[in-house]
Amino acid sequence: MADRLGPYRSKRDFAHTTEPSGREADGSHSPEPRFVVQRHRARRLHYDLRLEVDGALVSWAVPKGPTLDPTVRRAAFHVEDHPLEYLNFEGVIPAGQYGGGDVIVWDTGAWIARGAATRSGPRAAIEAGELHFDLCGHKLAGRFALVHSGTDDRGTERWLLVHKRDRHAVSGWDPEAYPRSVLSGRTNDEVREDPGYIWRSDLPPQVASMRLSGAAPLASGADELRDLDALRSSGTWEIFGRKVRLTNLDKVIFPSRPGEPPATKRDLIRYAARVAPVVLPYLSGRALNMHRFPSGVESKGFWQKQLPVSAPAWISRWEGPDADRGEVHTHLVVDEPATLVWAANLGVIEWHAWTSLAVQPQQPTYVLIDLDPGADTDWGTLLTLARLHRTALEHLGVRGQPKLTGHRGIHIWIPIGPGYDFADTRAWAEGLSRAIGAVVPDLVSWKWRVEDRQGRARLDYTQNAINKTLVAPYSPRPSPGAPVSAPIAWDELDDPSLAPDGFTIRTIVDRIAAKGDLFGPILRQDQDLPPLT
Ligand code: MN
Repeated sequence: MADRLGPYRSKRDFAHTTEPSGREADGSHSPEPRFVVQRHRARRLHYDLRLEVDGALVSWAVPKGPTLDPTVRRAAFHVEDHPLEYLNFEGVIPAGQYGGGDVIVWDTGAWIARGAATRSGPRAAIEAGELHFDLCGHKLAGRFALVHSGTDDRGTERWLLVHKRDRHAVSGWDPEAYPRSVLSGRTNDEVREDPGYIWRSDLPPQVASMRLSGAAPLASGADELRDLDALRSSGTWEIFGRKVRLTNLDKVIFPSRPGEPPATKRDLIRYAARVAPVVLPYLSGRALNMHRFPSGVESKGFWQKQLPVSAPAWISRWEGPDADRGEVHTHLVVDEPATLVWAANLGVIEWHAWTSLAVQPQQPTYVLIDLDPGADTDWGTLLTLARLHRTALEHLGVRGQPKLTGHRGIHIWIPIGPGYDFADTRAWAEGLSRAIGAVVPDLVSWKWRVEDRQGRARLDYTQNAINKTLVAPYSPRPSPGAPVSAPIAWDELDDPSLAPDGFTIRTIVDRIAAKGDLFGPILRQDQDLPPLT
């Protein structure tokens, strides 16, 4: 497993360096080991003091928090080491997971072992039960000591944390008087409202910190886009830190709709680059099935699940099972924005990311509902079905997000926490669909074959299976005018101007800039599915 993930681990570090989070770029470690103090509101408020030792974070939970007051001894409970990836984690741990609650980086900086630890090494000093050290943080500074004072019946080590009398000591100093993150300036309340990241402790640490929405599309005036326009029909484009070879840029890929020019491959590539920062959280860490139309969408396209051998070495990949024959295939993993540009140059129109993460291919992260119109299903009928789903989900207290397919239908995605397999999600989606279908039996068919449906819509729950996919949010669709699968707010179902193919690669980016990423709530994959009784 570790080897498989190697390539995209390294890419995630790359992704972090582009984020405006105040994080250090990887590779620019200070010579001293780092420390972090996180203010963590779990079942009880506490502070977690973590010291980098030999590639891990040795950790103590300090209920009342560290202080600069040298007259105060704080109880500290030695807890398990945490992975280094946790050093910058600020966000929400989903309810129900270990440590569920909100976390801010309350302080961070460098630490230096002192006293006996300078000779024995910090790990040995900790094992011996006494560690003296200096902290050099934003809030905490000066000499501290941690002393093992006893172990309770359940094996929990109780330690004392004290600040020595030195020039950094401040009597009466209270950590609660400094409640803001040193990374973002935010309080725990503000992080809980808009987490930015969640920590999935059920996943390997390299992928446990999952980014929620928040990235902006690439601005239309960006220098890189001017460079793209300046290329002739072929050339090398430097974008997102990669050099991508582009070909046949002026080939028409999407024929026009009335009153609009056709869209060329250059237009498709421009769109892929502009939307990549927004769509990346939906794609990263997942295998991606490519729907390619290299000769344009009026020619027959084809599915490609195997990464082409011509893919450059920097493209992330995953050796995973093929659903049909049980063979292992090398799948594309889009976990940096330049990959989407590379794929667009191959004529990849549709982005079909798996419903499960590559690290846990048998565990879906969403329930998918596909409102699939029949030949006689008009748009009004489809809206009726979508509103019935809205009502049902409200009634169940389940968060789901709708998006237009870009063709004629509507998809509803429901984010879920760990522990479900595809049989669970398929059964749940079927149960919901049958309950809704029972309300409007005239509108819905359960027949598999299109010709047996008498033109009625189908509520398709069968896509809840490994390596079956619905098109990703913001993906283009292979139709004239270059429509995209556009997330919508639920109340837009009541907007008379809404059309299932109403947003295109030309219009969706302005909409994202104005309204934000409406699909963002999907990225918080922490819901339980209630029983349908
Ligand atoms: Mn904690």
